[in-house]
Amino acid sequence: MNCGGRQLYEFIDLGQQPNGNNFLYPCEVDKEPRFPLSMLVCEDCWQVQISEFPSPEFMFSNHPYVTGVNAPVIKHFEALAPHVVTKLGLKPNDLVIDVGCNDGSLLKCFANEGMRTLGVDPGARSGELARQQGITVFRQFWTHETGKSLKQLGVQPNAITATAVFYHVPDLHNFVKGLVEVMGLETCFVVQAVSLRDLIEKNEFDHFYHEHSCIHSVEPLMRLFSTHGLRLQDIEMSPIHGGSFILYVVRKDCERPTTTAVGDALAADSAGGLNRRETYDAFAARVARNMDRLVELLRLLKKEGKTVYALGAPVKGSTLLNFCGIGPDLVPLATEVNKFKIGRVTPGTHIPVVDETTLEAQPDYYLVLAWNFADYLRNKYDDYLKKGGRFIVPVPELQVLGPIECT
Ligand SMILES: [Zn+2]
Repeated sequence: MNCGGRQLYEFIDLGQQPNGNNFLYPCEVDKEPRFPLSMLVCEDCWQVQISEFPSPEFMFSNHPYVTGVNAPVIKHFEALAPHVVTKLGLKPNDLVIDVGCNDGSLLKCFANEGMRTLGVDPGARSGELARQQGITVFRQFWTHETGKSLKQLGVQPNAITATAVFYHVPDLHNFVKGLVEVMGLETCFVVQAVSLRDLIEKNEFDHFYHEHSCIHSVEPLMRLFSTHGLRLQDIEMSPIHGGSFILYVVRKDCERPTTTAVGDALAADSAGGLNRRETYDAFAARVARNMDRLVELLRLLKKEGKTVYALGAPVKGSTLLNFCGIGPDLVPLATEVNKFKIGRVTPGTHIPVVDETTLEAQPDYYLVLAWNFADYLRNKYDDYLKKGGRFIVPVPELQVLGPIECT
């Protein structure tokens, strides 16, 4: 475990789950491997971590996630890049490295601000997409070795960004050592991660999947950075992905002072009970209750002859569907825009994934697995909802929703 702690308490067991991002062709389903998925909290340092982490090569080499198809994330990046440039006082031709750059969506925004950019990403498919956009990509995982190689090449970035990647890492110490190799006195590491406090408060259990080795709260991260001579200088909260934080991390000897937001965030985590076992037990009980209600609703709708399709098949949906045992008998189809998922079936539960643009008839209900984009989707499906279609939004609390103006 990253913290070396031994007092590990299992607070939620999501059962045997497949790789939630491994969308199979229908002919492949009988060879689908499964791994246990349960989450532990360390009662020494209160870091939340996965009980067993499958090999990263297996998890990421054929990854179907493509940032560019995800409109709300693109919108977020278009705001984030200029914000970071202004906040850090970056100048034209400064260098920004994005770790886990995926298809280069964020770096493209930095390039638009006049920055030089470099991506680091092990994914073959996403790296190729980034290169097509004119972004240079090192095809590898970010490790201590990666940092050393870049340092030998004389690379010293002004900013290093990592969005939705810093909890995909089995060995955080190794990752941070890589950062330290290339960080100069003024270099800032900007990391966005799902916030554990939001996850717990809003029952977002489906952020737990094999890719996520841990879910971060502020104090364990501060300790991690401090061990390697780094300091959490500032923190901002963002609503993206159901509640995330953006950390600004610098060398301890950097002149930029630590802001009061850091202390505020620590206090909020503590007030949220993140350092008490009962908080995690109560969370697991709420999740179980909420998911029981969802399955009950789907069974009832089936009995009434209503159709329910899944709207989108995100990886978090795989966790939810597998945990609840929701398959094609309750949800016969899932619609998608990502061509790397269309024509395949959902991991573990084997619901056929179809192209949302060629769907012949709309269902009575959509199960919104990408609940973090529910508002965006309600706008996009305004017509459907006004004609009587309904959204079933499972998280944070089970809700059945019509058009936005009706709420
Ligand atoms: Zn610990």
